[in-house]
Amino acid sequence: MTLNGKQQPETSTVIDIQGITKTYHLGDIELQVLKGIDMKIERGEFVSIMGPSGSGKSTLMNILGALDQPTTGTYCLDGIDVAKLSERELARIRNKKIGFVFQNFNLLKRTSALRQVELPLLYAGVGGRSQKAKAALESVGLGNRLDHMPSELSGGQQQRVAIARALVNEPSLILADEPTGNLDTRSGKEVMQIFQKLNREQGITTVFVTHDPWIARHTNRVIMLRDGLIIADQPIAAPLDAETAERPSEAEELATVFDDAYYGGKAEEYN
Ligand code: ADP
Ligand code: MG
Repeated sequence: MTLNGKQQPETSTVIDIQGITKTYHLGDIELQVLKGIDMKIERGEFVSIMGPSGSGKSTLMNILGALDQPTTGTYCLDGIDVAKLSERELARIRNKKIGFVFQNFNLLKRTSALRQVELPLLYAGVGGRSQKAKAALESVGLGNRLDHMPSELSGGQQQRVAIARALVNEPSLILADEPTGNLDTRSGKEVMQIFQKLNREQGITTVFVTHDPWIARHTNRVIMLRDGLIIADQPIAAPLDAETAERPSEAEELATVFDDAYYGGKAEEYN
């Protein structure tokens, strides 16, 4: 990646945030949503962020994606201090380095799958667009849906178009905010298979938000947010394989969450 004509070194730390706070002002009321977040994510990590609704997950993701600036604190993305960048440089970083996936897919309505995936290439001024977009769609299993409009695709297929769009520029980081939140179990599993494959085979650093402990157990590390603070940050000892893992009963699921997913203690140590 070049910036201001200078080649930027590839660092092993992709995300390095220190003391991040975010305060929204609503008239006279100040709402401090993030209260001091420190977090480092290394290249090739596969991380999930969990936490109750309103705990600040999306606010944090928007900062990680350089879509929003923190109120205080520092953010280095691939060794680059994001606060020092102009709007133009930020737009370039977002386009080149980061692939975004959202809960509601964010696809353009009357636009074919192929065209949706070509768009980031168009903004980046890259050639060979239809070949590259086609290859990205093939890699998410949609090689036979190139000309379909979003309304002609299932939710899971739409999300896979969104993933193809996110990865077509070969980003170093994929950020996904509840990418399986609107999907049924089977489609959610397909989406997890794709994320896992991208991470394992191409080493794409992936950070995503989920409410679902079972989905989180497919990643290598879980960060728990509550009230704008990180309350737990732990590796997952034996991540699930999306190809083979079957969702357990709810009771089993809860037990495994307490055992090893993010609290690290035994269920009886709580309550
Ligand atoms: P989560 O994604 O964990 O559900 P959010 O980061 O979306 O949480 O929101 C955290 C808190 O910040 C919520 O109380 C929300 O209402 C508030 N909030 C989010 N965005 C804004 C904004 N642009 N202006 C004011 N308040 C906001
Ligand atoms: Mg959210």
